[in-house]
Amino acid sequence: MPDWLTLSYTCPIEITHGEGRRVWDAEGLRYLDFYGGILTTMTAHALPEVTAAVAGQAARVLHTSTLYLNRRMVELAERVAALSGIPDARVFFTTSGTEANDAALLLATAHRGSHQVLAMRNSYHGRSFSTVSVTGNSAWSPTSYSPFQTLYVHGGTRCRGPFAAMSDAEFIRACIADLEDVLGQAHGRVAALIAEPVQGVGGFTSPPDGLYAAFRRVLDRHGILWISDEVQTGWGRTGDHFWGWQAHGEAGPPDALTFAKGIGNGMSVGGVVARAEVMNSLGAHSISTFGGSPVTMAAALANLTYLLEHDLQGNARRVGGLLIQRLRAVTAGVPAVREVRGRGLMIGIEFAGADGAPWPRAAELAMEHTREEGLLVGRGGREGHVLRIAPPLTLTVAEAEEGAELLATAVRRTQAVLESERRP
Ligand code: PMP
Repeated sequence: MPDWLTLSYTCPIEITHGEGRRVWDAEGLRYLDFYGGILTTMTAHALPEVTAAVAGQAARVLHTSTLYLNRRMVELAERVAALSGIPDARVFFTTSGTEANDAALLLATAHRGSHQVLAMRNSYHGRSFSTVSVTGNSAWSPTSYSPFQTLYVHGGTRCRGPFAAMSDAEFIRACIADLEDVLGQAHGRVAALIAEPVQGVGGFTSPPDGLYAAFRRVLDRHGILWISDEVQTGWGRTGDHFWGWQAHGEAGPPDALTFAKGIGNGMSVGGVVARAEVMNSLGAHSISTFGGSPVTMAAALANLTYLLEHDLQGNARRVGGLLIQRLRAVTAGVPAVREVRGRGLMIGIEFAGADGAPWPRAAELAMEHTREEGLLVGRGGREGHVLRIAPPLTLTVAEAEEGAELLATAVRRTQAVLESERRP
């Protein structure tokens, strides 16, 4: 295996095919998929409706560029704009979440005439020059060069430090004080706050409901735009809400939201939705050669239709609620598991030592053990100490129960290895 590939597992898996919530590897081993290719398989593997839409379009014409009318792109833009909750919304399609955030930041800085941007500690927004520059998780932002003056604020996670013991109300008050303090240090105008409603790469941590409503009141006083990065939280994944920002009620809608990952069910579709006034900040309309391409739009339309017709948000709420309960029950007596948390089908299992310190070794072992048990999950958190569970949204109750049992075995095996490693 080339050493420049960063792959999961000591012995990497080569997935050859999938169906529903299952995938198979090159050796014929079958796995229950609780990660959906980092939330890209939003509905199901090989969903017939999406496969037919892709094949049908591919057989006609693969691509023509966005210079020509693509009715499917217009239809998807109209549907996404209506679903976004943003009044007078416009949509710009990209091929990834990174580009979507890049475009949102470009619009916000142009609109406000400022290169100062607020971002959250522990955040992740992508791998381009601009998005690395608003990524607070230092493992993913290796450079100190930046097109922005980025001001990082608290609020995305309170797993550690002085915030850990605070009540929700105290935490919100402390974050507002921090935001005000940071703004007091800014040099003139600030363009925008970019934030994930639930930090994804950061380990599926969510701020208490209401944090962004409190933030919004401060932002509004300064005319600062709010960009909600919904790359992981969009389309009903969090169960109670279609978008993550909706958990903050009166906070929304944001001035712009970005999406990607799951909407194409594996095809590269991303985009930004913004108020027309913000979208039109750039004089010339932007064109992306591949953003909004016919095949990806066909996939996204079929996928979105399926998602809405089958109320997959409701499924995320019901099955996700059951899964989190089962996971809490089966890990209850395991000392290395500090917390099982989440919203809908976005669930994190955090590992910590007896002193409460993050325990990446535990998560690393648990990853290997889940794989050996036939279950795929992901890993995240600033220290890589959290297992991330985000199955396709069609997950059934039987599969949730099966997955919880596999996870229970994997975590018990992990605890046993950890204890043997500690013995002198
Ligand atoms: N924003 C968030 C919240 C993400 O989780 C990711 C991907 N992990 C991105 C942006 C970047 O998306 P992409 O990898 O499609 O560029």
